[in-house]
Amino acid sequence: MATLRFHALDELLSRTPKEVKMPAGKVTDYYGEKVFNTDSMRKYLSKQSFAAVQAASETGGSINRKMADGVALGMKAWAIENGATHYTHWFQPLTDATAEKHDGFIDYADDGSIIENFAGKLLVQQEPDASSFPSGGIRQTFEARGYTAWDTSSPAFIVGTTLCIPTVFISYTGEALDYKTPLLKALTAVDEAAVAVCQYFDKNVTRVHTIMGWEQEYFLIDEALFKARPDLVLTGRTLMGHSSSKDQQLDDHYFGSIPERVSSFMIDLEIEAHKLGIPVKTRHNEVAPSQFELAPIFEEANLANDHNQLIMDLMKRIARRHKFTVLFHEKPFAGINGSGKHNNWSLGTNTGVLLYAPGKNPKSNLQFITFVVNTLMAVYKNQDLLRAAILNATNGHRLGANEAPPAIISAFLGTEVSAMLDKIVAEVPDSKMTPDQKTALKLGIGRIPEIILDSTDRNRTSPFAFTGNRFEFRAVGSSANAAASTTVLSAAVAAQLRDFKVEVDGLIEKGASKDDAIFQTLKKIIIECEPIRFSGDGYSEEWKAEAKKRGLTNITNVPESISKYLEPTAKKTLIEGGILSEKELEARVEVEYEKYVYKVQIESRVLGDLAINHIVPTAIHYQTRLIQNIQGLKDIFGEKEYKEMTGSRLELIREISRHTSLIKSMRNEMIEARKQCNKLDDGKEKAVAYSEKVSPYLDKIRYHIDKLELIVDDEMWPLPKYRELLFNC
Ligand code: ADP
Ligand code: MG
Repeated sequence: MATLRFHALDELLSRTPKEVKMPAGKVTDYYGEKVFNTDSMRKYLSKQSFAAVQAASETGGSINRKMADGVALGMKAWAIENGATHYTHWFQPLTDATAEKHDGFIDYADDGSIIENFAGKLLVQQEPDASSFPSGGIRQTFEARGYTAWDTSSPAFIVGTTLCIPTVFISYTGEALDYKTPLLKALTAVDEAAVAVCQYFDKNVTRVHTIMGWEQEYFLIDEALFKARPDLVLTGRTLMGHSSSKDQQLDDHYFGSIPERVSSFMIDLEIEAHKLGIPVKTRHNEVAPSQFELAPIFEEANLANDHNQLIMDLMKRIARRHKFTVLFHEKPFAGINGSGKHNNWSLGTNTGVLLYAPGKNPKSNLQFITFVVNTLMAVYKNQDLLRAAILNATNGHRLGANEAPPAIISAFLGTEVSAMLDKIVAEVPDSKMTPDQKTALKLGIGRIPEIILDSTDRNRTSPFAFTGNRFEFRAVGSSANAAASTTVLSAAVAAQLRDFKVEVDGLIEKGASKDDAIFQTLKKIIIECEPIRFSGDGYSEEWKAEAKKRGLTNITNVPESISKYLEPTAKKTLIEGGILSEKELEARVEVEYEKYVYKVQIESRVLGDLAINHIVPTAIHYQTRLIQNIQGLKDIFGEKEYKEMTGSRLELIREISRHTSLIKSMRNEMIEARKQCNKLDDGKEKAVAYSEKVSPYLDKIRYHIDKLELIVDDEMWPLPKYRELLFNC
């Protein structure tokens, strides 16, 4: 039978690995050649323009129109010399992808001749008619305009023949409609709050920047097989498919030798990434078959996030060249590991100090402890907000399963740092410290080893782990824009650092010495946020019980988790912190509910269609063949012999009937449930209804389809199977 599946398998057999053209030269020869970076700016901009861009990018400020004209002129010259014909404002709406709308440099001159034009006003601000992006009701159709404005802290770059200018995306009335705007605000908030706290320890600190290093997991699937799976094409995950007899049991994929075809893709990708100034460094096989990981060297968080967004796009395009499709979905295949995006987060000062790295002396170590303790407290207070930022329809399939961080937010510290916190609690007296006590404590703090990596990075089950010089937030989904998680994490730490400073200053005002005030406040916080510290197995059942006793929340339901964005603590962190206005926050929550509903709705439709148009007809077809066969046997053999021969076949016929009729009836019930849910107007109610009434059918129907897959003749099965999808890299 000429199903899509067999065409795809035929095509697969004819594949020859694409040869990789290695670049002529070393990485340093071509690194950043497609980026309008400091070097090219120096070359193409006047001294004044160069200084203006540098200043704006340092302070996050803007550039006046006249200066912008000068910058645009230089940028255009550079871009055209590097093959660009078009330009676009490149932004990050509240969808799963970046957005761009290309305009040519082509224009009429005053005399009517054709010229290449790119004025300052086109660089600085634009009004793309981007009225179809989710806005959560912020934009009414009569003022559906959205504006994009240049983010000078992230350099322009060229993809193909288009000059891309990173921008924020805001509404006509100034509200954020994207991921970048609140991220930039959160980074500023944590900068200000952290500088104020650093001043207790070092007056030279005037700037604290957030650093991020992401690790991107993904699957690579042969393009032909991918296209033969409508569920993968339309939803990013397989809605059916019996597990393969062998998948990841033998742990033979993890860190294994990278298949040639994949390695050819990776090399191609790395060359392009390096040209775009993305410092990718690490590549390896992940746990599941056909699963891989890519990680760069860390960068300033806003730039790192842009680079993550950019590389996800790049990966899709380069994969196509190699006849692969990249899957970023958090759980494309049931029964094997899904994909995440680790967010390695830390803070660094203008004086070159990493605030989460133990220092060389008691003073810098006390600063380190101060930041660790406040971060713990921030996570403790904002556990629901942190989860809300990462738990969505797709990540919901991965989180809380025994392969990914649990839905309980906790923090892992490692033995040394943990012991130090306990020491502070034990040794700091409630009243003023004696000089001896102070010396003893400082001596102890000074003894934290500078490098404590080995003992800290071993707890892979923790959603938020201290890894020697940073925290690693591991619950982020692979398909997510990581800005959402970086924004809430940074905002939470900023809010906590502000609270800390108020408390310490209060004690100082009451006459405490600075050291006493800091130690006492730290002690109080350490005791209060004790429940968030956990070093055991985050996947275990005991932890769930223990976490409950500690009062930690455990939320796996997506709409419930989204609703926590509007809890008082979350509002304090985000609204009081100046990250989002009340209106912006509410709009964002609306968008999240809406995205959830649409995703479940699409999956439910696709599953229904596939079940009725592909699976049930195939099963009935096979059943008919069995019936004909039995009929034939009956004609040839005597009653007794016939019965002996066909007993199990009759049972098979019954089994097929059972499965197909259950599939059909449940599919009808699912449609009815959707209809009921669609009548609801309120975003939250609708999302909750979808999660309770529609979502459960996805697994229930799938169960019977997967049973049929085991029974029906392989030659008739219409969709590529797990063993085919997963073992053809
Ligand atoms: P692992 O898999 O052991 O966590 P990887 O090397 O795959 O480690 O990735 C670690 C990521 O963390 C990289 O992006 C790395 O650059 C980044 N990183 C390292 N140090 C810091 C730091 N101080 N702050 C933020 N990110 C960091
Ligand atoms: Mg890691």
